[in-house]
Amino acid sequence: CCGQPPDPQRPLARCPFPSPPAFAPPAPAGAGPFLLSINPADGSQAGRVAQARAADVDGAVAHAWQAVRCQPWRGLRLDRRADVLYEIGRLLRAEREPLARLQMADSGKPWKECLHMVDSAAGSFRYYAAVCETLQGEITPARGEYFSMAIAEPFGVIAAITPWNSPIMNEAQKVAPALAAGNAVVLKPSEETPQLALELLRVCHQAGLPQGLLQVLNGSGEEVGAALVRHPGVRMLSFTGGTETGRAIAAVAGQRLIPVGLELGGKSPHIVCADADREAALAGVLSGIFGSAGQSCVAGSRLFVERAIYAEFVAALAQRTRALRVGLPDDPGTQVGPLISWQHRDKVAGYVELGRREGARVLAGGYAPEQGALARGAFYMPTLLDGLPAQARVCQEEIFGPVLVALPFDGEDDLIEQANGTAFGLAAGIWTGSYPRAWRLARALEAGSVWINTYKQSHIATPFGGFKDSGIGREKGLQGLRLYSQNKSIYWGL
Ligand code: NAD
Repeated sequence: CCGQPPDPQRPLARCPFPSPPAFAPPAPAGAGPFLLSINPADGSQAGRVAQARAADVDGAVAHAWQAVRCQPWRGLRLDRRADVLYEIGRLLRAEREPLARLQMADSGKPWKECLHMVDSAAGSFRYYAAVCETLQGEITPARGEYFSMAIAEPFGVIAAITPWNSPIMNEAQKVAPALAAGNAVVLKPSEETPQLALELLRVCHQAGLPQGLLQVLNGSGEEVGAALVRHPGVRMLSFTGGTETGRAIAAVAGQRLIPVGLELGGKSPHIVCADADREAALAGVLSGIFGSAGQSCVAGSRLFVERAIYAEFVAALAQRTRALRVGLPDDPGTQVGPLISWQHRDKVAGYVELGRREGARVLAGGYAPEQGALARGAFYMPTLLDGLPAQARVCQEEIFGPVLVALPFDGEDDLIEQANGTAFGLAAGIWTGSYPRAWRLARALEAGSVWINTYKQSHIATPFGGFKDSGIGREKGLQGLRLYSQNKSIYWGL
């Protein structure tokens, strides 16, 4: 019925479902309308992709259901499903340099960060291939006349919506476990970085993923994203992005009574105790906020330093912040690249101005470069502020740029009150030489991830997600697979 070749391992005599409406793919590149990708390092055009509209959502979801119903993915032996996922990971790894180059043009991220994004995406597919192959249910032994079992079932078609700050890594973190669990995915990447998701789609097909199981719609959030979350054919929503967008999506999910996974914003506290290794803490605090030019959900954007060492530590930090090398993404010496767009840079600059009005001292940065090559890009200098109360807006709201606010603390109670005193709860970092203190603080902090004497380490096998306004549900690890599965209990009479 759907024109797909029959599966030799599991032939279907006749597809039991009515044919879905014909899929109308967005116009091929060259025909328009287009979405332009602009390189924020210099304003050049990084590429253009076919732009989807709300009307394309119907076709994409129908096509995804067709793939679920008429193809053997869900019923395929798990080792065969794993083979395809392994192959996707292998191909991503084999193409890491060209993919990283495209990502550098799309996002302006420095070269090493781009390589890391591609490696991480490959790692997600490798990990979920292994998990998929070893998937087990639970069996309760016979109780006289029956036994029972709990098995994981896919939802069917899932919508995945992603932001621009870690292209391909964020997409892989959703697509790999969702496919491993037996679903089809309709993916809507950010309109700021549209190219990598199409490359992921190409690689998936090259690796043998049946057509239709992954659909990519490049379009605006307000139009295509909103139509996707409302589409009755979508059975589960997986979203990474800003908290306000997440709230709007969760409201739709609530109305529709479908599950939703939300990975949202943060304002993470980075804590330096007086007994910390100063050198290690300085390096950790710097990379914790200024890596990815602060455009990281787990950026350590509020620095709490124990009062006894506050003045000395913050002075050293200001000096190192001023010494950071801000530069073009392809320069191997670059430590901080551009922001994603000029509009976003204006938002970041606006927060620094607000901080000034709120009474902040600007200890480093606080301006956009206006000379030389950097003047052409969306750059903003790494900025260190202090002298603000913990309730000031720049200490409370996610800036998502290279802006760090330093605050002193006196004792653990004061620290915990200040550190937990935001709506967010994504991550936290602690630098201390005392293990009991590290443990007490780690338990008291309201954060989904806590780093002790390190920061921003991340492993695909370890769950990730937020407390409070930073999200609902966990990605990565086994919990990341469960997010895309629903339990079915089966009782079997003997
Ligand atoms: P955003 O919320 O503006 O957009 C995210 C995605 O949602 C985009 O694809 C966008 O097109 C889409 N979208 C926008 N409005 C929509 C709507 N009404 N319905 C459906 N989709 C819609 O976020 P952004 O600016 O792209 O990304 C930055 C944010 O993402 C930051 O807040 C950051 O902390 C967060 N983030 C969180 C994590 C995490 O794992 N917790 C990871 C990366 C980024």
